[in-house]
Amino acid sequence: METTEKRLSGLPLSEGCAVSRVCLFNDGRHSNLPMYRVDGSGTDREKERVRRAISIAAERLETVREKVEKKIGKPEAEIFVAQKMILEDPALLADIETKIEADALNAESAIDQVLNEYEKRLLGIDDQYIRERASDLGEIKRRLLDVLGHMRPALQCHSEACRRGRDRIVVAEELTPSLTVDIDMDHTVGFLTEHGGINSHAAILARSMGIPAVSGLPGLRDQVGCGTEIMLNGYTGEVILWPSAETIREADLERDRVVQAPEPEAPVAGFSVMANVNSFSDLRDTRAQQADGIGLYRTEFELLVAGRLFTEDELFERYAAVVKAMTGKPVLFRLFDIGSDKRLPFLGLPREENPSLGWRGARLLLGRADILRSQARALARCSLGHRIYILYPMIVDLDQFRRLKAMVCEAIRDIPRGEILHGIMFEVPSACLQAETLYREADFASVGTNDLTQYLFAVDRDNDLVSADYQPDRPVFWDLMAGMANAARQAGKLLSVCGEMAGDPAFAQKFKAAGIRSVSVSPRRIPGIRQAVRALMGTDKNDVAPSDKPAPATERQNRE
Ligand code: PEP
Ligand code: MG
Repeated sequence: METTEKRLSGLPLSEGCAVSRVCLFNDGRHSNLPMYRVDGSGTDREKERVRRAISIAAERLETVREKVEKKIGKPEAEIFVAQKMILEDPALLADIETKIEADALNAESAIDQVLNEYEKRLLGIDDQYIRERASDLGEIKRRLLDVLGHMRPALQCHSEACRRGRDRIVVAEELTPSLTVDIDMDHTVGFLTEHGGINSHAAILARSMGIPAVSGLPGLRDQVGCGTEIMLNGYTGEVILWPSAETIREADLERDRVVQAPEPEAPVAGFSVMANVNSFSDLRDTRAQQADGIGLYRTEFELLVAGRLFTEDELFERYAAVVKAMTGKPVLFRLFDIGSDKRLPFLGLPREENPSLGWRGARLLLGRADILRSQARALARCSLGHRIYILYPMIVDLDQFRRLKAMVCEAIRDIPRGEILHGIMFEVPSACLQAETLYREADFASVGTNDLTQYLFAVDRDNDLVSADYQPDRPVFWDLMAGMANAARQAGKLLSVCGEMAGDPAFAQKFKAAGIRSVSVSPRRIPGIRQAVRALMGTDKNDVAPSDKPAPATERQNRE
């Protein structure tokens, strides 16, 4: 392999610099399975390989279970218990062995065929829960094939010394939420991906963890291998393969550096800076930064990471813990915003040609009362003694908001509860343009500038090819923002902005001029925004605006 310095230019996704070796992730690693025919003693050898693979895969599953339980929680770890039980079921081994004998197949082919058949059968059953278990079979198959192919699960490393991203730069086609479970995110020093836009959820995740990242590097996986030395600059998008000692010295980088969380900055009177939380672990930074609340709790991320739905009780425990940890500050729980790039594979949703305009957000929840119900009930249970804010994603118009709210109210009818506020995400232009009408029924709202930019300017947020056009800073955008702020002021209700640009100090002045007095940003960005806003405060007559305080819910809303 080449080792002279090579410079590439990509799309900067997350700030920071790093120099380290590559940990290569390759999702298509089983596309070239060894397939051969066996007979006689070959059959016994293949059966023995299967038995060994099952026992190693079971051991690995146990290790993952322990790790996930420690890192994320017991409920999430249960999925691996279930997988281990299926894996160790004698019926599975018997079926694979029969296949090897009857069809004279090698271990890989037999495993592939048997588990594909199982999966197909489950997908044909008319029971949602059973269909969702089908993805476990795919996962078991991959784990067995990993063992047989001497591959580490998920990562392409063939070496037992693989560090699973620890102190490494992870290179992947795309950074998916499920990859984040498999690698050591807390100690990964960088991400390089072939594809992915500036506001893809992967980029948001990297920024919230302070991990430098660059995307837009097509073909990168063919140019590097595990262990290739790379230097990346998440400010400029420059990536250097095999950097010389001189280049590294000139760049004056600390090796293997992760961007540290900044020092907290005290709250600013009259301007609330809340936190966007993607998982339970983000709470730590949120509290450390003394956020004024949680302005966006992306509840669907936990499902992505766990690979399954949670029960009402599990959700209640989680949400109650978040509310408690925030000691009376507002927590805006967004209902599951599923779909588009947040496809939950275990839900078996149909493939769509154009998923960002398809079955997602509010639309999906309207068709999946089962998913909505347990979440709504868990949130309602949290409302005893705490005001609960429920944020409805991707609302298009008043009729849609009413229908979804009616479903939530119906789901929680029998639950003793306290104050519940129902709010809207302004991220579809049709809703933003009728903010005044929507505020008649919504108790609060939050602007999702990530999707609003995508839909207002017809530019894909996940596509690095069009990232130069993903640019909201245009007069029409600020006019729209001012219109929404005005509607909020007239209604005397909260309006916050929770998209990524709210965390960029360069836009603080424009948001303030548009009448915004509340934002919600990645926790690590809180100090920068507070500094920028503090310097601007007192410069106009609306500096202590009524929109700082959410309006109390009416009696009617409480009864609903
Ligand atoms: C947004 O669209 O701006 C938003 C905050 O939601 P998400 O990024 O989760 O789609
Ligand atoms: Mg959105």
